[in-house]
Amino acid sequence: MQKVTYNRVKIIATAGPACKDPAVLEELIRAGVDILRLNLSHGTWEEYDYFIEQVRRINLKLGVRVALLADLQGPKMRIGKLEKAIPIAPGDELIFSSRLGRDGIIPVEYETLARDVSPGDVILVEDGRVRLKVLETDGVQTVRLKVLAGDRIGSRKGINLPGRPISLPTISEKDWDDLLEIAHRQIEWVAISFVRRPEDVQEVRYFLRRMGASTHIMAKIERPEALEHLERIAAVSDAVMVARGDLGVEIPVEEVPLWQKKIIRTCHRWGKPVVVATQMLETMIQNASPTRAEVTDIANAVLDGADAVMLSGETSVGAYPVEAVRQMQRILMAAETDPTIYRLAGQPDANSPTYLSDAVCWTACTLASEVGAKALVGLTYSGYTAFQLARWRPQTDIFIFTSNPRILTTLNLLWGVRAYYYRKEEATYPTIYDILHIIRDMGHVQTGDVVIFTVSMPLQARQRTNTLHIAQVP
Ligand code: PEP
Repeated sequence: MQKVTYNRVKIIATAGPACKDPAVLEELIRAGVDILRLNLSHGTWEEYDYFIEQVRRINLKLGVRVALLADLQGPKMRIGKLEKAIPIAPGDELIFSSRLGRDGIIPVEYETLARDVSPGDVILVEDGRVRLKVLETDGVQTVRLKVLAGDRIGSRKGINLPGRPISLPTISEKDWDDLLEIAHRQIEWVAISFVRRPEDVQEVRYFLRRMGASTHIMAKIERPEALEHLERIAAVSDAVMVARGDLGVEIPVEEVPLWQKKIIRTCHRWGKPVVVATQMLETMIQNASPTRAEVTDIANAVLDGADAVMLSGETSVGAYPVEAVRQMQRILMAAETDPTIYRLAGQPDANSPTYLSDAVCWTACTLASEVGAKALVGLTYSGYTAFQLARWRPQTDIFIFTSNPRILTTLNLLWGVRAYYYRKEEATYPTIYDILHIIRDMGHVQTGDVVIFTVSMPLQARQRTNTLHIAQVP
């Protein structure tokens, strides 16, 4: 694999017109993108297929493992399609209708809006750019509102009802259709938007299993109900996203930083990767350099313990997509020199059904720091060992070797993990010595360096990790 960049915290970039040119996309990946996000709220499968094909081509060309993350739209409640933005001013009265818009009536794509609101409620449009107060609802299709703040209503902009329960299901009809497409394409990760309960995640997992897909599930935390059920959502998901855009509209924005830390701590306890997203380099959508506050925000996400950080408009529609990734990569590298991000406190849970193999991985990380090992090597088929090694944030580099091509790219989201395809799998000791030579030849270790292996013996049985081996590079 070609050495591109080796930051431990991974970078997710969102696909869009700004990185559609194959040369720009390749530059983005060379600059350090680990995951490309397809935002299913915008675009068509024809457009996503273009990016999927490009990423898989660039992976082969550069020998990198960029994975795809398909981000479901969810029960997105939005303004309907408008010919052009409608100018508004505070004090104006508006009418929203979930049926077709007529003269003076603004269409909304939100079937149950009139049922979900009551007079006095505040409705936000476009992440709070527009604030509206409900004056009257007919409980069926029409809502009369007064403008509190804002200057225009734009076509297809998102609607939020802060603090109000919504009666739409979490997984929409469109999401189920998209999940089918995701399963067919074996996309590595799917993000569920507006998760409210752990059952939302379980429903999607059941569907993907039935479809024979190995797609891993990321729960986006952006609703107050998800904060209430955070523990159980973290427990049943493969990863979690702090989706600060909608979260900052659904709860008071000043509470977002504290929730970011709390969500990250919860994910650490459950050993689940966690992504910090939205507005990380927002001003770089227009400007060639970031603000001090943005740089500090990214560094703080690293210090909080994020596995990955995400760019949205910066790479999808921004004027400086490659510069944004380069900048992010430099901030990550600088923040990762802080020793406090390594060696998380805690121990594996003795009540967990995976306790024994979890304990082997934890011990491997502890031993690696004790003996100053240069590499931690995990041999895994399911990928589970990679999650467990990344979980404890060892300062020692993590190398995962697997004969399972499906998880090679999936693991690219995980903190510090680099995965390699390895198919020989003879007896355990010849395999260990072969891999020692491989990582030495790649320049990651030198003769005499200590390397720690976690393995399942016998290799061919593909059981959970049960063996820890310490070796010196010959
Ligand atoms: C968010 O709300 O922060 C987010 C990542 O979701 P989306 O971009 O789909 O609104």
